[in-house]
Amino acid sequence: MGEVAEATGYADLWASLHAIGRDAGTGGYRRFAWNAADLACREWFAAQAADRGLTVETDRNGNQWARWEPEPALVPGPEAKASGAGALAIGSHLDSVPDGGAFDGPLGVISSFAAVDLLRSRGWRPNRPVVIANFTDEEGARFGVACTGSRLMSGLLDADKARGLCDADGVRLADAMERVGLDPRAIGRDEDRLGDIAAFVELHIEQGRALDDVGAPVGVASAIWPHGRWRFDFDGEANHAGTTALEERRDPMLTYAHTVLSARKKARLGGALATFGRVRVDPNGTNAIPSRVRAWLDARAPDEAVLAAVVKDIREAAVQRARRDGTTLDVENESLTPVVEFDGVLRGRLSKALEPEFGTVPVLPTGAGHDAGILAAEVPTAMVFVRNPTGRSHTPHEHAETTDCHAGVRALAHIVADLAGGESGS
Ligand SMILES: [Zn+2]
Repeated sequence: MGEVAEATGYADLWASLHAIGRDAGTGGYRRFAWNAADLACREWFAAQAADRGLTVETDRNGNQWARWEPEPALVPGPEAKASGAGALAIGSHLDSVPDGGAFDGPLGVISSFAAVDLLRSRGWRPNRPVVIANFTDEEGARFGVACTGSRLMSGLLDADKARGLCDADGVRLADAMERVGLDPRAIGRDEDRLGDIAAFVELHIEQGRALDDVGAPVGVASAIWPHGRWRFDFDGEANHAGTTALEERRDPMLTYAHTVLSARKKARLGGALATFGRVRVDPNGTNAIPSRVRAWLDARAPDEAVLAAVVKDIREAAVQRARRDGTTLDVENESLTPVVEFDGVLRGRLSKALEPEFGTVPVLPTGAGHDAGILAAEVPTAMVFVRNPTGRSHTPHEHAETTDCHAGVRALAHIVADLAGGESGS
């Protein structure tokens, strides 16, 4: 057994979370904001913190924080006082996409608890608070907006708009929060919480194969691609599938299908990514031409100009096709997240802290959104990626090798030791 396995009970830590919200049929996770599985994950988080003697708080926006305070003898050190040292935040999220994998989110939370265990086993103590975050509703699987917890905390998501968000059953976010004993009137920008955080480092499974390609167990993020979601409403005319001649039809499915193909082509030509992964058909009958096809475009690109150009191209191709099909198109932008460049100084410091064990670590951009991307606008923020050998993510097949997960824990421990500037007892 390695140091991580021995010092942290790492396998047990995973085992204790494994069954929560896991669908027996698919093997995927269904941990959506404020559902029973999500609440069980939150209880798990509180229990893990309590086991370690960390205090747990739930903030106004529903994010959980487990806090490791420096011992009184070590604060206030003159140095900490002079720099007005706030907390070092680590952590990630515990919610999932529909049938998500085990690692996206939980790897960062579990690694954070394990890094605390590892540092303690080495006799290390922080000289500033170290807080572990469980951000609420990172995936947006239930209410449609990703990173709700961090967006609310930073004021990026309007509180009124958030309260009114509805899930597929028509349950409002405000009511879902109220049902679990939280006050939805209190959500919104949290100046105190933001002011308390000196830096945030999120460890996450890589959602691609870049680390595997270069044979590295961990890497550091450079930037998050700008990305957004657009709702496409294709409207036509419902009619009988058996009696309506082809030339008589106004079939929005046809326009939609053509748009999917052109999105692929425009993305390829533009060096971007475009995906239609969600679609709703009315009336959704096998023997009926649809009256409406509502579909969501997820698009991402290396920079904002490319993203805007590719989405414009997709939209124009759809409008042209709609003219041919006798259908109409309405496009609504539901969210748009600008490019995020992670703090260069912090990134450099991470690389330096990792160098003694890992050598020169790869620095890579990602197309996936994260709470770290939201917080980057407020505090110095960085990300550590752990190798994903298949690159698959948002599927039950998502996987990371245990040895790489252990490397991630050690990496995080190096970073905490550096940034929270503690003293070693050994
Ligand atoms: Zn994630």
